[in-house]
Amino acid sequence: MNPSCLFCKIAAGQAQANIVYQDELVTAFRDIHPVAPTHVLIVPNKHIQSVNQAELDDEHILGHLFTTARKIAEIDGISNGGYRAIVNTGVDGGQTVFHLHMHVIGGQRMQHPMG
Ligand code: 5GP
Ligand code: ZN
Repeated sequence: MNPSCLFCKIAAGQAQANIVYQDELVTAFRDIHPVAPTHVLIVPNKHIQSVNQAELDDEHILGHLFTTARKIAEIDGISNGGYRAIVNTGVDGGQTVFHLHMHVIGGQRMQHPMG
């Protein structure tokens, strides 16, 4: 855990968040500024700064982000309609919180193209 990292604190229960799902590897909580009816962030419980710092030993965690995205979609009832799973990486990628996270966004038809 990085004590100065917001998402580490949320995963450890030391900062408030609307948690949707949690297990030994990941924590999922609702984004504070949702862009769609469903906007959930899934974070590894372990501090990984971004995809640039992800190691081979982390692959079980990275894969678990996707199966958790599936679970979130089922919880929010958006599996059939579809959704986006996005991982912004670095400044040019639009990353603003430097603890790797997957956005799960859905509940409406996506309007804007990538980029
Ligand atoms: P990024 O831009 O790094 O891909 O995404 C960071 C996301 O974290 C943004 O969508 C932002 O709204 C969300 N966020 C920032 N601070 C907080 C917070 O304190 N609580 C929650 N739930 N989400 C946050
Ligand atoms: Zn962290």
